[in-house]
Amino acid sequence: MAVDSALSSPLGPPACEKDAKALQFIEEMTRNADSVQERVLAEILSRNSQTEYLRRFKLNGATDRDTFKSKLPVITYEDLQPEIQRIANGDRSAILSAHPISEFLTSSGTSAGERKLMPTIKEELDRRQLLYSLLMPVMNLYVPGLDKGKGLYFLFVKSETRTPGGLLARPVLTSYYKSEHFKTRPYDPYNVYTSPNEAILCPDSFQSMYTQMLCGLQERQQVLRVGAVFASGLLRAIRFLQLNWQQLTQDIETGSLNQKITDPSLRECMSKTLKPNPELAEFVRQECSKDNWDGIITRIWPNTKYLDVIVTGAMAQYIPTLDYYSGGLPLACTMYASSECYFGLNLNPMSKPSEVSYTIMPNMAYFEFLPHEPNSPAGFTRESPPKLVDLVDVEVGKEYELVITTYAGLCRYRVGDILRVTGFHNSAPQFHFVRRKNVLLSIDSDKTDEAELQKAVDNASQLLREFNTSVVEYTSYADTKTIPGHYVIYWELLVKDSANSPTDEVLNKCCLAMEESLNSVYRQGRVADNSIGPLEIRVVKNGTFEELMDYAISRGASINQYKVPRCVNFTPIMELLDSRVVSKHFSPALPHWTPERRR
Ligand code: AMP
Repeated sequence: MAVDSALSSPLGPPACEKDAKALQFIEEMTRNADSVQERVLAEILSRNSQTEYLRRFKLNGATDRDTFKSKLPVITYEDLQPEIQRIANGDRSAILSAHPISEFLTSSGTSAGERKLMPTIKEELDRRQLLYSLLMPVMNLYVPGLDKGKGLYFLFVKSETRTPGGLLARPVLTSYYKSEHFKTRPYDPYNVYTSPNEAILCPDSFQSMYTQMLCGLQERQQVLRVGAVFASGLLRAIRFLQLNWQQLTQDIETGSLNQKITDPSLRECMSKTLKPNPELAEFVRQECSKDNWDGIITRIWPNTKYLDVIVTGAMAQYIPTLDYYSGGLPLACTMYASSECYFGLNLNPMSKPSEVSYTIMPNMAYFEFLPHEPNSPAGFTRESPPKLVDLVDVEVGKEYELVITTYAGLCRYRVGDILRVTGFHNSAPQFHFVRRKNVLLSIDSDKTDEAELQKAVDNASQLLREFNTSVVEYTSYADTKTIPGHYVIYWELLVKDSANSPTDEVLNKCCLAMEESLNSVYRQGRVADNSIGPLEIRVVKNGTFEELMDYAISRGASINQYKVPRCVNFTPIMELLDSRVVSKHFSPALPHWTPERRR
């Protein structure tokens, strides 16, 4: 469609008038980043001026940056725990936000082993929706013709609970998919999914995945892009196909739905589209029964132009596997978001994963940046407050921790993400996602830090006591060669009485004891999402960790300062460790997990 030239954008020629408006909006926001930020802060502070939180810091109605920065502390989730707990327990007074808290979003970041609860307000849905509405207009600049087909996206809802005070607590995407914004979204030829809403909204993850895959197979020629939120999710779908293609092809052949799909709304919805198609069934059967799954995505969905999955940050570990299954299709990382706030989007979504930069949209929240100096102590005190930098004042090449002030009432809240400035679009900076602080191991959305791993090793090693055995050293590794990936923990043991060394069975139990000690996001991944495989302990020969130290010193580490790395992924070190393995053990059962929080 020809677009009025008055609507053309510096980002490129828009595909349609709706896109032109979205691109114009991006231009406006990024050109006026500083004034938008000033307005956003003033809006947040004035509407929340009577909240308990802002009154505590005696802002006295001030809405300017200087007063805000001089009076309000920079905080973490732990600092807000008492307020969050009160809201969760049913206190409806204006504690953090003048607008009522509509629900809690459960972050994959944890506090004391449980998901963090992020308060949110109704209108935040509009803000999230606005950011989503900018993604396709940008993508259409780079990939033409996306209105000629569909997207095969594997999208899921997760379980939700209520807090003692009756507020819903669920992940942000579950909240979004269940919202009217998503369910009754207007038809947009550029954004048609193969998955019906009924399949996305089915709470049973097997039935949901099965029907989404079935729909994707039926419409294989129409599929122009394949995606999931994170890379791990797309690989889980490929694994699902490996395990279930026989039943799926049978359904396609006969036109009747597998009896395992019991959800009535799914059965009804599938009955409208599922028709016998022996030819398609035979094709899928032929492809899937081959030993070699190299390029399977493009074999089954030959018109796929790109994979839409996040492969930045911890997800970068999946790039080689995705390349294998897709024959090297472009990987598009479109947005950067969290439960606390949706931050921004990638204005050049077809860039290589290593070069992806996200542009923070200044209308989403008020953003500040804490200069990140990797070698300085992690904390800081009230007496020596850090100097935070505003959005437009960050410097190219420098690293910062993101600090946000949101409409929902988080004030100067440290997100925990480290970002590096790569450049600017107009006056809005663009950031490379460097890493999340304090994450040692991650397979899916789980994030395990060093203290959690230490506690898990401590708890599991209690089982070795009766064998007069202790764990003298350990390290870990996120093994993503298998789907789903799993944690591998290397243990060097001190066995004092070799006649009574721990049995295989005990060491298997140690794996489960470690899993029981890990946080609820990990356990949910194991139990409900099937996104993490059983934890493995590899016992290594005595002296292995000394060899590891010798190796590090030979490469220039200082003897005095050497510390055992608690997570490894450098190939020579992995090879050394693996060559010293004397036995391997796997968790024999699933750890305990229920949607209810432990506290
Ligand atoms: P959650 O609060 O569970 O929604 O997780 C949000 C976190 O996921 C962010 O703070 C980041 O650490 C990570 N994340 C979100 N989007 C991206 C992205 N595009 N690239 C890398 N990490 C991301």
